[in-house]
Amino acid sequence: MPGTFTHTFDTPSYKGTATVNTGLFINGQWVDPVEGGTIDVYNPATGDVITAISGGTAKDVDLAVDAAKKAYKTSWGLKCPGAVRGKLLNKLADLLEKNIDEFTALEVLDAGKVYDKAKLQDIGGAITVIRYYAGWADKIQGKTIETNDTKLAYTRHEPYGVVGQIIPWNFPMGMLSWKIAPALATGNTIVLKPSEITPLTALRLGDLINEAGFPPGVVNIVNGYGHTVGDAITHHPLIEKVAFTGSTLTGRKVLKASAESNLKAVTLELGGKSPTIIFDDADIEQAVKWAAHGIFFNMGQACTAGSRIFIQEGIYDTFLAKFTEVAKYLGATTGDPFTIGTQHGPQVSQTQFDRVMGYINSGKEEGATVHIGGARHGDKGYFIQPTIFTDVKPEMKIVQEEIFGPVCALIKFKTEEEVIEAANDTIYGLACHIFSQNLSRALRVTHSLEAGSAWVNCSQVAEASVPFGGYKQSGIGRELGEYALDTYTQVKGVHINIDHQL
Ligand code: NAD
Repeated sequence: MPGTFTHTFDTPSYKGTATVNTGLFINGQWVDPVEGGTIDVYNPATGDVITAISGGTAKDVDLAVDAAKKAYKTSWGLKCPGAVRGKLLNKLADLLEKNIDEFTALEVLDAGKVYDKAKLQDIGGAITVIRYYAGWADKIQGKTIETNDTKLAYTRHEPYGVVGQIIPWNFPMGMLSWKIAPALATGNTIVLKPSEITPLTALRLGDLINEAGFPPGVVNIVNGYGHTVGDAITHHPLIEKVAFTGSTLTGRKVLKASAESNLKAVTLELGGKSPTIIFDDADIEQAVKWAAHGIFFNMGQACTAGSRIFIQEGIYDTFLAKFTEVAKYLGATTGDPFTIGTQHGPQVSQTQFDRVMGYINSGKEEGATVHIGGARHGDKGYFIQPTIFTDVKPEMKIVQEEIFGPVCALIKFKTEEEVIEAANDTIYGLACHIFSQNLSRALRVTHSLEAGSAWVNCSQVAEASVPFGGYKQSGIGRELGEYALDTYTQVKGVHINIDHQL
């Protein structure tokens, strides 16, 4: 019998008890993996083990795919009206809202997120996305195409069938909602692999999937490592599409697995090294706040983090002084993510802590100046001080590579042309931020930057209705908005002969 994990929260932000099934969720039931195996889950604020979850293998993926295939043929896909799919998604969103504090607490415990922000952005954001796609479920439609009056032609937007979904640890519920909501709205069934580092909210969601009334097998959740469960999903011959969010390195493996197996459709949301550009004519108070949010939000563990901050020379000193004050404030409010007033929490794991500290050390070794931060905070957990580097050079690792921590490089520039060239000098193209009160300049620069999301006079704002995805090596395809529906459907062109004689 698969186990459960019960945790009593007695924190300033939340008091209550959460119980999470730690097995695999296949065909609407909690089961043990075929070949056993467990994975420890850590609290990033302390470094202590919270619990152990089951870790599956390829054999469990096979069972999950069988269940998903059966559900697709008998009770979902085109067998289930869109209005019913929408109703179930709305029910899921309602249940999540009812349990929002419990989900938030689990996310904070597991991922080290600051409580209030996690409630609003992670769990609140997931609810919004699920409701948004619930609204689309009965609006998936093709077109009638005029050819001539002897024929009728039309298109159908049909689901793929079983889709595989693999998500990272930085926004466990956020990324989960971006994946499952459009897939279910369009009639696909799902085999989902949460990150082995932050599986708790995905597992708790399995209960809500049943409570909402989804037929068994429509959503299957298989915990496990990337090289076992993830690899099996990406190679599976009966999975017709894989949606992956994670590093660019793993994204390449996902694409390769598709080529080696059944040429499944692939969408990829990958890494970034996004520029934040602040012109002399920006509203400096606002630019400072948004730029800080752009890099320090979620402790820098955002694929869109504005980690290269370009500042025009006329305001560089003023910006640096004000920006430093924000970093100091975040440093002073770093700590237990459940404590009211905490603004900055830990990195997610020891591995990520070591990785980010490695980048900080490389910046120092390559001759950049640590203006503020640059060290761990406290003596337990995975806390890193908000860190600002100055005196950086374009070829330094901290300017070229994704750090995925609260670390940014400040770079002075003179002209618009120069900053566009420098901002685009990266293999990535996920996002960009532009600060200027001159509308023409802001739009001119926005249109010149190679990135899938552009934020003008703001940063890191996600809307369920606006597409999100990467240019260059930051990804393939789009999530969110109407655009995501296209990535979960395939188009059939139907030709009907009315009077055409051969
Ligand atoms: P990761 O690539 O290590 O892991 C992501 C997921 O892939 C995990 O579930 C992991 O178990 C799985 N995985 C690992 N190896 C696999 C394999 N061989 N086959 C199949 N699956 C495998 O990334 P991470 O460390 O979890 O997340 C951080 C990365 O994710 C960063 O690079 C970040 O930029 C990126 N990210 C991108 C977006 C986006 O929307 N573009 C959003 C969030 C995170």
